[in-house]
Amino acid sequence: MVNIAVLVKQVPASQSVKMDKNGMLVREGDLIVNPDDLAALESALRIKEIYGGQITTVSMGPPQAKDALLEAKAMGADKGILISDPKLKGSDTWVTTKVLAACLKRFGPFDLIFAGVEAIDGNTAHVPYQVSQAMKIPLITQFHALKIEHNRLIANRIKGHESQQTQTALPVILTANKQTNRPRYYDLQRIKHAFDASVETIDLQQLGIDENDAGVKGSPTQVLKISQIVRKRENKRLEGTDKEMGNQLIELLTRNNLLKT
Ligand SMILES: Cc1cc2nc3c(=O)[nH]c(=O)nc-3n(C[C@H](O)[C@H](O)[C@H](O)COP(=O)(O)OP(=O)(O)OC[C@H]3O[C@@H](n4cnc5c(N)ncnc54)[C@H](O)[C@@H]3O)c2cc1C
Repeated sequence: MVNIAVLVKQVPASQSVKMDKNGMLVREGDLIVNPDDLAALESALRIKEIYGGQITTVSMGPPQAKDALLEAKAMGADKGILISDPKLKGSDTWVTTKVLAACLKRFGPFDLIFAGVEAIDGNTAHVPYQVSQAMKIPLITQFHALKIEHNRLIANRIKGHESQQTQTALPVILTANKQTNRPRYYDLQRIKHAFDASVETIDLQQLGIDENDAGVKGSPTQVLKISQIVRKRENKRLEGTDKEMGNQLIELLTRNNLLKT
């Protein structure tokens, strides 16, 4: 029996990611489960199918993040824990890590912790590495096959064009993304069933974290400036004989530093 946790983040569907003038994410429009987290959950479900056990999903987010945990339940997770507290508003990845690690310690010990590689809104890809550091447990990335033997995890990893086999004692944290697997389909019946269920919601106090160590106050990272990247394109039509156009092209590429002579 394996005790498994999966970190699940609710994110805006990528087209609708917006920041306010203070650099905070505006959470409106369609909200989805972060795609890499579905791959993380799929990996957890496959482990459970082989070795048995329980899957607990953990999310830090506003109250509506509960839906992400219920969706995970529809896919096959057993239990969901939502850490939600207005004092977490403005938390950076450092605070997110502290909070998630405290929750994993409190509801653990877990043998395996799965996370996505990256969230499509924050895009830092910090959290799993930092959780590994905070909990002092090893992290395995880019795995494509997993096996548990004598309390050790044996993972086959993609390393460039090779497959690398690595092993470590449990507990271990693993990151997954769309290259790892194809998350299973869950039908309407399962969704209906899951959405009738509930998730456990806890706040900062229950995790023993001081409010001064959370939110903007507890976050060493500050967003200094948000700006749109504008990609400028120039449309140029070359005219003349093939030779003249060739020369014009070389001159154009050289002038724009795209061709070194
Ligand atoms: C100064 C600052 C202020 C911010 N203010 C806010 C704010 O007000 N509100 C807000 O929502 N965000 C805010 N953020 C963003 C927030 O810090 C990040 O979204 C969060 O720390 C996770 O980072 P990420 O999205 O880059 O995740 P990544 O590190 O890219 O995520 C990788 C994986 O870690 C796991 N994971 C990440 N975050 C969570 C989570 N919350 N719960 C469960 N699993 C998770 C998932 O498995 C995910 O796939 C702020 C960031 C900064 C720098």
